[in-house]
Amino acid sequence: MRVPKPFDPDHCRSQFPILTEPPGGLPLHYLDNAATAQLPAAVLMAVRRHETMARANVARGVHQLAEAATAAYEDARSAVADYLGVTDAEEVIFTGGTTASINLVAYSFGERLGPGDEVLVSELEHHSNLVPWQMLATRRGVALKVLPVTDEGRLDLERLPAMVSKRTRLIALTHCSNVTGAITDIGPIVAAARGVGARVLIDGAQRAPHGPLDLAALGIDFYAFSGHKVYAPNGVGVLWGRRELLSAMPPFLGGGGMIAQVDLDAGTTFADIPRRFEPGTPPIAQAVGLGAAVRWVKALDWAGIAQHEARLTGRILDGLGALKGARVIGPTGLQGRLGVVSFTLDGIHPHDLCQWLDRKGVALRGGHHCAQPLARRFGVAGTTRASLAPYNNDADVDALLAGLEDAMKRFK
Ligand code: PLP
Repeated sequence: MRVPKPFDPDHCRSQFPILTEPPGGLPLHYLDNAATAQLPAAVLMAVRRHETMARANVARGVHQLAEAATAAYEDARSAVADYLGVTDAEEVIFTGGTTASINLVAYSFGERLGPGDEVLVSELEHHSNLVPWQMLATRRGVALKVLPVTDEGRLDLERLPAMVSKRTRLIALTHCSNVTGAITDIGPIVAAARGVGARVLIDGAQRAPHGPLDLAALGIDFYAFSGHKVYAPNGVGVLWGRRELLSAMPPFLGGGGMIAQVDLDAGTTFADIPRRFEPGTPPIAQAVGLGAAVRWVKALDWAGIAQHEARLTGRILDGLGALKGARVIGPTGLQGRLGVVSFTLDGIHPHDLCQWLDRKGVALRGGHHCAQPLARRFGVAGTTRASLAPYNNDADVDALLAGLEDAMKRFK
């Protein structure tokens, strides 16, 4: 019997130039992956190759470079569809990121909503999956319902049936919290939505970096994520939506590339998806980088990575558990979570703590993490967050825990 090789984080790490040769020469313990992940050489090379060999605008010119750029851009779309587990690549819309994707749905899908309609969000959401719906509520008189979170920092799905009604048009929830790391159980949400004819949008910004998806099996209607968190460049993201829904939605932004015909008298008719929602020059090289990134991610050993990240997460949680004055905001166990751990240390402001650890080469994030309602729910102004990627190793966790202990002594 062939015994699979265990996942090797050091081999994974060796593919990231910024980690093997960190700027400044000091070791870099990069634990801010939930904010932005680093780029592997395969993605850096794909972007460079594209920009040196095939740089041109897409879907317009007929010269060779324009055709090469268009082919590369569409190939990236196919790679993303494959990563998401969907067969129709035209259901993949390239956007600027998760925020842009959710705003697209809030404006376009939201255009048909009005008084008497409800959108359900939660207390766990990033502002990107909250503010666009508040703006929709103001614009169109739609009512916004908010699902609470449990003391463990998870969606309180027991409250779901009571919050969904025949008036619910859309349920917009996160797949994984960027603060507590809790993973959402999508099944009950889809079941509740189907029962009342509502649609489901999932904010996948934090889940998408952690291995390929099977959206067809999830049974949802829209999925949003950002390139820069899945080892791809900034400035590109994805909205996936069911063809019949996207095709029935009015365009959001107007401009070149998204039209069928423009006539000064007869007005404008619009292109089919995906172009209908990709006005102007899209982020071409970024999309090519995203295609390379999701192919790179898909080829990794995700069973091995899950074990590796769970072990490191366990070490962080144990370390915090042993540290007097530390409080974890979110689940303290390993079930149903990813390696995103937020915490407070008594008497130390998260920004001071992050600066202190930065001097030791440990990159963390401190603040409200664009989730102010959640911080309020837990009675804190902010937290410090450590978030893992496959390239993190025991040395990163050692540096984090030693830095925290040190900070506790120094700041007292
Ligand atoms: N949703 C979640 C859960 C996030 O963690 C983030 C970013 O941190 C976003 C949405 C917004 O992503 P972006 O800033 O790339 O649009």
